[in-house]
Amino acid sequence: MTISHQAPATLRAISPYLPGKPITELAREIGLPVERIVKLASNENPRGMSPLARVAVEHAIAGIARYPDQFDLVKALSDRLGVGEDQIVLGNGSNDVLDLVARVFLAPGRSSVFSEHAFAVYSLATQSTGAEGIVAPATHYGHDLSAMRAALRPDTRLVWIANPNNPTGTYLPSAQIRAFLETVPDDVAVVLDEAYNEYLPPRVESVAWCRDFPNLIITRTFSKIYGLAGLRVGYAVTSPEVADLMNRVRQPFNVNNLALAAATAALDDHVFVAESYRLNQEGMERMVAGVKHLGLEHIPSHGNFISIKVRNALIVNEKLLKQGIIVRPIAGYGLPHHLRVTIGLPSENERFLTALEGAL
Ligand SMILES: *Cc1c(COP(=O)(O)O)cnc(C)c1O
Repeated sequence: MTISHQAPATLRAISPYLPGKPITELAREIGLPVERIVKLASNENPRGMSPLARVAVEHAIAGIARYPDQFDLVKALSDRLGVGEDQIVLGNGSNDVLDLVARVFLAPGRSSVFSEHAFAVYSLATQSTGAEGIVAPATHYGHDLSAMRAALRPDTRLVWIANPNNPTGTYLPSAQIRAFLETVPDDVAVVLDEAYNEYLPPRVESVAWCRDFPNLIITRTFSKIYGLAGLRVGYAVTSPEVADLMNRVRQPFNVNNLALAAATAALDDHVFVAESYRLNQEGMERMVAGVKHLGLEHIPSHGNFISIKVRNALIVNEKLLKQGIIVRPIAGYGLPHHLRVTIGLPSENERFLTALEGAL
C-alpha cells in the first residue's frame, strides 16, 4: 500500500477545482506582456478594488505583527444587515464559509443535494467530508427546486442553492426560494449562496428569513462586486445556533488583518459599488448584443458573467488564448459547448467580441 492509498477513497475520488488561468501564466506561455492580456475568467471586478479599501489596507499594514480582530467587520455587517453579531461568521473567502457548513453538517453516511450545473465547490466541500453529493437535474440550465426537494433522502443533511448560480447566471425569484424553505424539513440545513447578490436589482432581502428558518445559511463574498478576490474574505448570515457550530470548526484567525480592513471599508464604499453595478449592467447589454450579432446563443445571466454557446468550445478557447484572452471553459460543469465570460471593462468586452468573431 502506498502512502496515497491511506487517504479515504471518498477523498481520492475528488477531481480538483480548476481555477481560471492566471494572467501571469498565459503571459509566460505566449510571451505577451501581462498588460496585453485580458482575463475574463474568474468573475473578478474589472475595475479593481474599492479606493476606500485600498487606503484601509495601507493603514492596516502597520498592524500586521498582531493577530487579527474580527470585531469591526462583524459589527459593520450586523449593522448593515440588521442581524445580531452572533449571526455572522467570517471566512477566508466565502469558499471557506461553504466548507465550514459542510464540516458542521456532513460526514460519511450523510448526503447533500445540489443542482446539475451548480457551483463546483458544493460537490468538493461535500466530498471532502466523506459525505455523498446528490445531483438534482436542472431545468433550462437553472436550479429546479422541486427536483431538488424530491432528491432529499433520509440521510440528507444539507442542500446547496446558488442564486444567481455560477456558471449559468440563472436566478430564482425570492418567492420561490422562500416557498422552497417552507417545504424543507427543519433538520436539513439550506445554504443560499448569494455571491452575486450585489449585482441584482433591489429586491426582498433574504437575510430576514433567518428569523423564520434557523436551518438557513446565507453566504456572500467580497470577491465579486467589492473587488477583493485576492484578499479572500466572505461571510455567512445564519441563526445564532448554526453560527455557533460554524465558529467551533472555524480557525480562530481565518481572515487576515488586511482583508478585514479592506472589507470593512469596501462595505461603506457605496459609490464604488454603484459604479461597478452600472458598469456591469452596461457591459452585460453590450455582450448580449455582441453575442447575438454573431448568431450565438447564451444563457441569460443575472451575475457579472455570461455563458455563451459555441460550436467547439475547446478550440475557440485555444484561439482566444493565443490572442491573449482568458475565458472559462465549463465542460466540468456539464456544459461542454459553453464558455463562461466575465463582463469586463468596455475595452475588454470589445477585444473579447472581436477575438471571438475571429475564433469562430
Ligand atoms: C465566486 C463565488 C463564490 C465565492 O468565492 P470566494 O472568493 O471564495 O468568496 C461563491 N459562490 C459562487 C457561486 C461564486 O461564483
